[in-house]
Amino acid sequence: MQKNTLPDASLDLSVVVPCYNEASTLSAMLPRLMAACKNAAEEYEIILVNDGSVDASWALIDGFAKNFPRVVGVNLARRYGQQIALSAGLSLCRGKRILIIDADLQDPPELLPEMMRLMDRGADVIYGQRKRRTGENFFKRMTAACFYRLIRLAGETPLPVDTGDFRLINRRVLELLQQMPERQRYLRGMIAWMGLNQEPLLYERQQRFAGKSGYSLKWMLRFAMDAFTGFSVFPLRLSLWLGFVCGLLALGLLGYVLFAWISGDAVPGWTSLSCIMLFFFGLQFFCIGIIGEYVGRIYTESKQRPLFIIERISKNGARA
Ligand code: UDP
Ligand code: MG
Repeated sequence: MQKNTLPDASLDLSVVVPCYNEASTLSAMLPRLMAACKNAAEEYEIILVNDGSVDASWALIDGFAKNFPRVVGVNLARRYGQQIALSAGLSLCRGKRILIIDADLQDPPELLPEMMRLMDRGADVIYGQRKRRTGENFFKRMTAACFYRLIRLAGETPLPVDTGDFRLINRRVLELLQQMPERQRYLRGMIAWMGLNQEPLLYERQQRFAGKSGYSLKWMLRFAMDAFTGFSVFPLRLSLWLGFVCGLLALGLLGYVLFAWISGDAVPGWTSLSCIMLFFFGLQFFCIGIIGEYVGRIYTESKQRPLFIIERISKNGARA
């Protein structure tokens, strides 16, 4: 298992912001984020992770980091994608609580104090849940709505719908994330998988402040595949079900084929050919399905997630 390489928790709050080509938003975002942090915590840091931007993002981030002691700039060696950029930022956090937020101001930083208050009541995670998405086109809204519902349907983990990465997590959740070394990372799913006490905060997702979405169709598909395959072995199981259905169909058709043969309606050779085909198609799907089951298990094992998470142990009237 990957070593827990987190630095000590010496601050009240860390904010992690993944940035891909966000030069047009960063100067507007940082003051708003800093003001929100000031209202919510005494000691905080803002970790801006540059995910291989090809615009002036890094020059800006580097400048901020030199001018503001609370800003930490991280420049990744290339574009790894938002989820890895977030993971890189999370691995450097010194805060007791961690806010994950996009750079484009679609998630209002002003919600932070409210999230902190909700967490004071004992939640481990406060996740932003979108009650409306403004300024996003029909295609994005439709694909997002279908995606969240489909993955919820196929997956074994109950994942909250219409929820992005915008969330406040506590140190415990961060430490648990560090114990999950899987490489295809779908953070919101991994956090949901933990269980614990997770509460939504409904909000309106805003329009992007400037620039354009870093998620082209190719990156959206890649993201969806990571999320889907990371949280569901349903596609692997599909052939087993297909095998069953084929088997049943084959039985029914077999009756028909034999009936045709007995009543002399069949062209010579057709009966035997049909039987062979039906039988072997069914058998083939079934065998692929069995292999799929094993591959699924190897896959689940290889993720090396903790077996379980104990929320708390209560003993002799004390809490541990
Ligand atoms: N992002 C990133 N790497 C990428 C794509 C996006 O770090 O490859 C960042 C981006 O700068 C933003 C956040 O992830 O802060 C969300 O991305 P975006 O706004 O492009 O996605 P959308 O809101 O359109 O889903
Ligand atoms: Mg965005």
